[in-house]
Amino acid sequence: MKPTRVLVIAGSDSSGGAGIQADIKTITMLGGYAMTAITALTAQNTLGVAQVLSIPAGFVIAQIDACLADIGADAVKIGMIGSAAVAVAVAARLQSLDQHIPIVFDPVMVATSGGVLADGPTIAAFASLMAIATVTTPNIPELAALGGVEALVSAGVTVLAKGGDAHGAVISDTLHRPGEAPRTWSAPRIETRHTHGTGCTLASALAASLGSGMSLPDAVERARAYVRGALLAAPGFGAGSGPLGHAAAADPAKLNRS
Ligand code: PLP
Repeated sequence: MKPTRVLVIAGSDSSGGAGIQADIKTITMLGGYAMTAITALTAQNTLGVAQVLSIPAGFVIAQIDACLADIGADAVKIGMIGSAAVAVAVAARLQSLDQHIPIVFDPVMVATSGGVLADGPTIAAFASLMAIATVTTPNIPELAALGGVEALVSAGVTVLAKGGDAHGAVISDTLHRPGEAPRTWSAPRIETRHTHGTGCTLASALAASLGSGMSLPDAVERARAYVRGALLAAPGFGAGSGPLGHAAAADPAKLNRS
């Protein structure tokens, strides 16, 4: 069987822990084939974001078109979007796809180190991406900035509300689907400062799983298990919030499914 083709529309993280670099590692480790349409370049490390260079919308769309016209895609993952113009152009391009494929949207606003990755107009334009996404995966502050779970679900958005930023010994993620009862997954907190790229990794694992035909709840379970394995396998690089251990996470002995 051929690998699941995942088109990632996201930003580059020079330090390799988050963004496109985390996406490619995750999709590859889960047996998929990653393609990229890069929306922004960041100069950053585990301590912070030094500079951001946004890519013009026309060039982002050209990358998408080049991938889709030749290789095609079974799923799309959207991460850091770079500008409001890119958000609107990407939403319009994905809406025009003749084939219905799963789209995972991680509404990235702030890096784990605190660097701002989306300005106000970009966040306002996220509505156009949520409207075409199969699932949107905000963390706690992102969900608040987007108006809260009730507003999103009543607008027809499927939300995986990530609880990793909450305090406490147990971490819960809850899937809210319009017209359905919420479903929650919980597990003991993994105590570590090395959480850079967890959001990117979860969303890419979801996209790779949905693209291979898994149901959304099954994809959430697989993605959570992969992220937990990668957290446990973090190499401890950098003086700040360091990267995950994407390669070692494929070791089933490290996958804590509790
Ligand atoms: N995308 C890019 C390019 C980033 O640099 C970052 C964080 O630094 C993110 C997304 C979001 O990272 P996280 O997965 O830690 O939320």
